Amino acid sequence: MREITKWVVEDTGQKEVFWPSEEMKRLAWVNDASLYRQADEDPVAFWAERAREGLDWFRTWDETYRRDPPYFKWFVGGKLNACYNCVDRHAKSWRRNKAAIIGVREPTGEPAKTLTYHDLYREVNRFANVLKDLGVGRGDRVSIYLPMIPEAQIAMLACARIGAPHSVVFSAFSADSLKDRIEDAGSKALVTCDGYYRRGRAVNLKDNADRAVEGTTVAHVVVFRRTGQEVDWVEGRDHWWHELMEGAEPYCEPEVMDSEDTLYILYTSGTTGRPKGVIHTTGGYLTQAYWTTKWDFDLHDEDVFWCTSDIGWVTGHTYNVYGPLSVGATQIFYEGAPDFPDRGRVWEIIERHGVTVFYTAPTLIRMFMGWGDEWLEGHDLTGLRLLATVGEPISRDAWMWYFEQVGGCRCPVIDTWWQTETGSTLINALPGIGPFIPTVAGRSFPGTRHEILDDRGEALGLGDDPGYLVQRGPFGPGMLRGIFGNPAMYEENYWTRFGHDAYFSSDGARYFSEGNFRLTGRLDDVMKVAGHRLSAAEVENAIATHPDVAECAVVPAPHEIKGETPWAFVRLKDREPSDELAKELTDQVVKVLGPTCRPERIVFTAAVPRTRSGKIMRRILKSLVRNEPVGDTTTIENPESVEDLKTLVGYKE
Ligand code: ATP
Ligand code: MG
Repeated sequence: MREITKWVVEDTGQKEVFWPSEEMKRLAWVNDASLYRQADEDPVAFWAERAREGLDWFRTWDETYRRDPPYFKWFVGGKLNACYNCVDRHAKSWRRNKAAIIGVREPTGEPAKTLTYHDLYREVNRFANVLKDLGVGRGDRVSIYLPMIPEAQIAMLACARIGAPHSVVFSAFSADSLKDRIEDAGSKALVTCDGYYRRGRAVNLKDNADRAVEGTTVAHVVVFRRTGQEVDWVEGRDHWWHELMEGAEPYCEPEVMDSEDTLYILYTSGTTGRPKGVIHTTGGYLTQAYWTTKWDFDLHDEDVFWCTSDIGWVTGHTYNVYGPLSVGATQIFYEGAPDFPDRGRVWEIIERHGVTVFYTAPTLIRMFMGWGDEWLEGHDLTGLRLLATVGEPISRDAWMWYFEQVGGCRCPVIDTWWQTETGSTLINALPGIGPFIPTVAGRSFPGTRHEILDDRGEALGLGDDPGYLVQRGPFGPGMLRGIFGNPAMYEENYWTRFGHDAYFSSDGARYFSEGNFRLTGRLDDVMKVAGHRLSAAEVENAIATHPDVAECAVVPAPHEIKGETPWAFVRLKDREPSDELAKELTDQVVKVLGPTCRPERIVFTAAVPRTRSGKIMRRILKSLVRNEPVGDTTTIENPESVEDLKTLVGYKE
């Protein structure tokens, strides 16, 4: 692919606006921008066409879209099975011998475990029968607590096959967090393993599982043997995966599911508070998963896709299971850490397995940058043709590093904005259309509509301050259909702020150009400094461009005169903190954003608090600078950072 065209727009101050190369345009599934207009003229007809073209249905729907606020339905009366769409139809086609999942393993050196679509078909059918034999049936919930091994995907698909909603819990969550989620979902069974490898060491997972299931509704625990370590055993309740599989019948008829039957429940990352059990249903979710995978990542049959998300997050659900498998793609599924046996691991995997499309998170990109470019050297990354990110706003410097160092200036960087609630990506540029602009996610996916509203619900336009990002109806087919066991919270979180005609995302945004959205972070992270609305992301962007800064998080602190004022928490690369450096950073913000945005304090710190998905928890920092209680801390990955910060900011318990 030829070098991407660089288009310089001087008057907006944005130096980098990239357009797809001729080759990218020729190759891409979508290269005609008129698609946006066509879809917008009749989104319901557009999605009906997508559902028909992308999926196999047992029965066609009677009504494409039905609203019953705050609820809505897609493909009412339609019948299908998600597992059938991800597995059977490929196993019956020429893709039968195509690699579906390349499970790259730990410890390093163990050969990859590759499953073809036929292998996947065999495993999934038998595991579906295993669950059935244990008494799990349609509508029963199954919790899954597994590391990044293909058995996670097999278990999820087996649940989908028999119509039992799964609830996957990130394997690094504690026993208590798992217990909370099992209890909330009322699960009948748990699928887990003895342990897993992390940086060459075997970690015991069964212990956590044992403590979590005690006193809950879980009657059966299926244990996959991964490490072979000693584990405690409860006779009658615990079963070895391989023993049950031996006796299982090879074929399990897929349940005929209603389009609106629940496919899964998934708890959010918990960046802003306690996680909520988001409900996703079958037909609409799978339709959007299929088309966003195909169009956003431009996946073709020859591609090797690698999405680095853990299976415990929505990105792992949609882009490690339902999206790539429904389109019949080949994907990498990596068990280990990005820095084991060394910091070149990710680049080694990309080279060895010929990854062409790579999807990761800004937090990892920052980590790679911090480790230094030398880790990429010596690895042939020229097979890559497309890069993408999700999870947080990506700063300009991280975007450019990704584009230049990883993508060799050939690959579009697709910055995808979406949420656990939205099921699939919603706002991003399409690879054959562009433009690709650092810190600008792009346009609404065809057939969806977003707006930016002010406090009173009036639509904002180009040139206005950041406002509230909302989605307008007809709401995307992949959107959540509720919060498990808590309809009041569903109404309150998403449909109260602006009523039933605007899904409230809790994120802030402004327009970069007509229809192109720049995400400015969570609304809780917006501050009002001397009457001006200022987003944390804007200040962070200005600071992060300094070569000595590894990462930074900005939060509002109360101020007597200005109302609020930004405080910046900064982690440095290889430099000692100094007053001089603090001044340099402050001056940089003033230069880029003006004197009103001057940070009141720069706090140099060894770490900022993060969720287990790697997102900065500004909520915690905000409580610290306000001397308020820090609230729910169960989703913090590095609690020790909070203790250090308390001392740094003079927090009084
Ligand atoms: P909780 O809702 O429990 O606090 P969470 O919001 O972190 O957790 P997710 O659904 O995993 O849970 O994350 C979605 C959020 O991540 C979005 O609302 C947005 O704030 C942020 N986000 C995701 N992708 C992007 C992106 N490309 N640009 C900017 N922000 C993003
Ligand atoms: Mg959220």
